[in-house]
Amino acid sequence: MNHFNWDYSFLVDFDLNNGFSKTAETTKRYLSQMKDMFYDVEAAEEILKTEDPLIYEFYELGFPEREGDLAFGTTILYPGLVGEEYYMTKGHFHTKLETAEVYYTLSGEGYMVMENPEGDTIEIPLVKGQALYVPRRYAHRSVNTGNEPLVMFFTFDADAGHDYGTIETKGYHKMVVERQGKAEIVPNPKW
Ligand code: MN
Repeated sequence: MNHFNWDYSFLVDFDLNNGFSKTAETTKRYLSQMKDMFYDVEAAEEILKTEDPLIYEFYELGFPEREGDLAFGTTILYPGLVGEEYYMTKGHFHTKLETAEVYYTLSGEGYMVMENPEGDTIEIPLVKGQALYVPRRYAHRSVNTGNEPLVMFFTFDADAGHDYGTIETKGYHKMVVERQGKAEIVPNPKW
C-alpha cells in the first residue's frame, strides 16, 4: 500500500513509453473477469479453455474520493480479438455523471467509445501524442485496434466514482470489430 500526502505535494513515476509505474498500484483485468462484456461470449469461452489473457491493466494511486482532488494514472490495453471484437476496457459512467475526464495517448492506436444515458454515441480515434476530452455525462470505453499496447494517461475528478453496472448488462450501443483486416464501428445487436 502506497501512501501519498494529498494535502501536501508529491512526485510519482510513470514510464511514458509503456505506462508502467514502480510506485503506483496496478489492477489487472483478465478475460475471465469480463467475458460476458464481449458480444461473442462463445469465442471468449473458447479462448478460456486454454488461457486467460490479460486484457488491460491500470496504474493509479489509491486516491481519496474527495471533492477537489484529481485522480490520475495510466491504462495499458493489450492488443487482441475476442471473435471479431477488439480487446477493450470495461468502460463506465461516472457516478457523478456531470464529471469529465482527459485521456492522453502515449502509444498505440484505437478508439474511445462514448455514450450518454440518452443513447447518443461518440467514437473518436485515440492517436499518439493527442489528448482526448471525454465530456460530462458520457460513459467511456477504450478499444485497441492496433498490434501493440494502447497506453494512455488519464485524469479526472477524484470523487467522480465509477458506475459499471448500468452499461455492463447490455454493453454499449456501438462496438468496434475487425472485418477484412480493418477496424469498423458497428451497432451492437444486443440493443
Ligand atoms: Mn472515467
